[in-house]
Amino acid sequence: MLIRLTLFCVCFQLIRCQGYNIAGFFEENDNEANAKAFEVAIATANTNRKEEYALSMFNVIIPSQNPFVAMNTTCTLTKQSIIGVFGPSSLSNIHAVQAVCDAKEIPHILTKWMNGPPKLGTALNFYPNPSLLTRAYIDFIQEWKWKTFTCLYEDDESLLRLSGLILFAKENSIVATVEQLDRENSGNFRDALKKIRKTNQKFLIIDCSNDNLIEVLVQCQQVGLMTQDYHYFLTNLDAHTKDLSPFQWSQANITGIRLVNPDSAYVQEISQTIFEPEDELEDPSVTTSRLEIETALTYDAVHMFSDILSKMEEYHPPYGASLDCYQPDSWELGYSVVNLLKTSSHRGLTGPIEFDNQGSRSAFNLQMYEIRESGITTVASWNSSEGLNITKKHSEAEDLGKDSMRNKTFTVLITLTDPYGMNKEASEQLVGNDRYEGFSIDLIEELAKLEGFNYTFVVQADGKNGNKENGRWTGMIGEVVEGRADMAITDLTITSDRAEAVDFTSPFMNLGVSILFQKPSKAPPNFFSFAQPFALDTWIALAVAFLIVSLSFFLLGRICPDEWTNPYPCVEEPEYLINQFSLANAVWFATGAMLQQGSEIAPIAIPTRLVSGVWWFFVLIMVSSYTANLASFLVSESHVELFTDVKSLLEKADKHNIRYGAKAKGATLDFFEKSTGNELHQEIARHMREHPEDMPGDNKVGVQMAEEMKYAFFMESTTIEYTIQRHCSLTIVGDRLDEKGYGIALKKDSPYRTRLSLAILKLQTSGEIEKIRKKWWEERKGGGQCTGAENDPTATPLDLENVEGIFYVTIFGTILGIVLVIFEFIVNIFRICRKLHISFREGLKREIIFFFKFNSNVKPVLDNRSEEEEEKSEPRSESNRSKSKSEKSKSVRSHAESEVRPYGFVISSPSLDRLTE
Ligand code: GLU
Repeated sequence: MLIRLTLFCVCFQLIRCQGYNIAGFFEENDNEANAKAFEVAIATANTNRKEEYALSMFNVIIPSQNPFVAMNTTCTLTKQSIIGVFGPSSLSNIHAVQAVCDAKEIPHILTKWMNGPPKLGTALNFYPNPSLLTRAYIDFIQEWKWKTFTCLYEDDESLLRLSGLILFAKENSIVATVEQLDRENSGNFRDALKKIRKTNQKFLIIDCSNDNLIEVLVQCQQVGLMTQDYHYFLTNLDAHTKDLSPFQWSQANITGIRLVNPDSAYVQEISQTIFEPEDELEDPSVTTSRLEIETALTYDAVHMFSDILSKMEEYHPPYGASLDCYQPDSWELGYSVVNLLKTSSHRGLTGPIEFDNQGSRSAFNLQMYEIRESGITTVASWNSSEGLNITKKHSEAEDLGKDSMRNKTFTVLITLTDPYGMNKEASEQLVGNDRYEGFSIDLIEELAKLEGFNYTFVVQADGKNGNKENGRWTGMIGEVVEGRADMAITDLTITSDRAEAVDFTSPFMNLGVSILFQKPSKAPPNFFSFAQPFALDTWIALAVAFLIVSLSFFLLGRICPDEWTNPYPCVEEPEYLINQFSLANAVWFATGAMLQQGSEIAPIAIPTRLVSGVWWFFVLIMVSSYTANLASFLVSESHVELFTDVKSLLEKADKHNIRYGAKAKGATLDFFEKSTGNELHQEIARHMREHPEDMPGDNKVGVQMAEEMKYAFFMESTTIEYTIQRHCSLTIVGDRLDEKGYGIALKKDSPYRTRLSLAILKLQTSGEIEKIRKKWWEERKGGGQCTGAENDPTATPLDLENVEGIFYVTIFGTILGIVLVIFEFIVNIFRICRKLHISFREGLKREIIFFFKFNSNVKPVLDNRSEEEEEKSEPRSESNRSKSKSEKSKSVRSHAESEVRPYGFVISSPSLDRLTE
């Protein structure tokens, strides 16, 4: 039996004259709650009605999409004086019923989404106006600032539902694409979803039936579309009635809309009546959450219809008339009821209800909700007059919760770059994360311990850190940008370009670009290597000290009275005194002392002895320092450095055939290319562009080139430090050219960036990162091999600063000697003046005059002789002396002088001995 007509009235005739008959069409596949809501609505409406105005219902169940049955049934019912028809739900049935209702002028109430307003005059649709719904969708998209989206639709109807939005996107330069969920109707949506994944679209609008919704979302999860990067907008107004809790933890941003507010007390009360909870204590929200829009609209429609009847009853009860489909008659009050419905407003389970004159619902409220970890949360409301109103932003607590990494699992991208990530060597087969070791592995392990997250390492197949090629990011950065990895860690340099595409944590290591090159070769033996222990300024100071001290001996000797001695052999009353410190003797004395050979000259007076002592001390220190430093120079090897920095590298590159380069497509090359303000760097960048053969794809190849040829490899200092610990023929040349750091790359706007940065900071301050660095740089995998070689003794010439002190001691000693000499000199003048009874002035004058006769080392003993006599007795000049010799002068003084001339003293002169005899 195709038609099941249930007559709830005991006596049909009775009904005709008492109350109103209304028919409800339900289809076999319909939600049973719809029929129940119809029943409950009539029952509750009748509670406020007088018996003669009571509503009676014809509850009709017809097959879906069967317009013939629908039409026949409607014609049967028109004979029963029905004054209103509710339903059905399938489109062809609706059209059939609507045709009859229109012909018979019987109000036809719909609760389904229809493309556009009802076509025929007596139809009214309680479902929100499609163009207003489109306006709501547009408001949401604009609020989220989506610049692109893909509509996943189920069938023609759902595509039509989204057509307004797609048109809007087209007019507003928003890239909108459409994809049918399941063309074959096989229940497999994965093919379409995989396609979406490939296109990298992150903004999805899903329009499908409520029955398929959960399966679609599950399959989204299966193909990897349910991560924090994805944004979903569910257009189905019943989505919230499904169990969405499995997606609460997905981190995907899922937003839905609904017409029924399940938190409203009215909704909860009615839904409890419709669904009849088994247990009185059952949470009302359980039943409310099952209330679908069609059910609620059916309930609202009956009540609004009942209200209109009540209004009309005040002056004329709108009883129905028995109508035959094959007769031209119609119900004369039909349009009155319809017009009254169109001009009235009502508030029901689905909020405010108003219609436009085409019978389409023009007033309604939408609630926007998000599926968060805490459950379904209403975040905004929308109504046809005021538009969107955001009511709830993410609370701080929720945000913090979202940022938490605890118990989440992340895909961590690594590269097999020593020592950041390496394959672990083991005798047995390793699986999972155990396969890798290195700095990055240890660091992630420490971070995971701090933040409580799980991780899976994935190796970047091409080993590239990533750079921008033709507008697309390659390597690790590309993987993170495209969401295939949650984080990337290796020697990944933070650069401004990369920071625009991904988020970096604070750097876990600081470094700069430097040069890796062969250690300098041994220098050939130096002809003047004996001079190396002292720097030039020390040698100059030494020479000056020598001259000053020699001169001091000469001058002090002349001034100092005690240095004028009785010539050998001693005579009781000598007529003259001699002085051993002639200029030549003074120089010879200083030389003998300096070369530690001594001389036969021995100072007599205290001041000269003092100066001698100081000079000997000076010499002792200087000679010891020289000897010690000479030993170091002989032990250490001096090296020839081809270049010491970038400037000298460029100057010498051609002359010495030095090649240079950096890792191809790395941050180092990027650094030179971006250093537009530095000519040297620009020249290097030019060279790198022109010489791809000098740009190894891998650091290992660069290191090998540096070992095997004259190749300067621009590399990051951290990696150079690692390399020179293991390749003893290589060294770092010059200072760092810049300052930068390595960071962990995360997806742009990642909520975990701050947490990871803080954790890195913690590990840095606790010294944990330095510990890991030491382990992988200096201890493991051949670390520390070249440390001994690094500490080769090196000798540096002693410059003035190293021996400054001893110079001061010498200066001080000499000055003291001078002071003492002057003192003795003056005391001596006093003594002579007293003896000769001459004034001090006279004595001083005589002594000073004698002092400046530098050509004489023989001094007359002062007595009562006049100055003229003295003048005569003075030793003669060089010319005179030869003369006096020839004249056989008997003067001992002349003899003495002529004999002592070569050295300026007389002590051991045999000629003098002979003469004095
Ligand atoms: N660390 C560099 C990068 O992230 C690679 C090595 C280099 O360029 O020297 O690209």
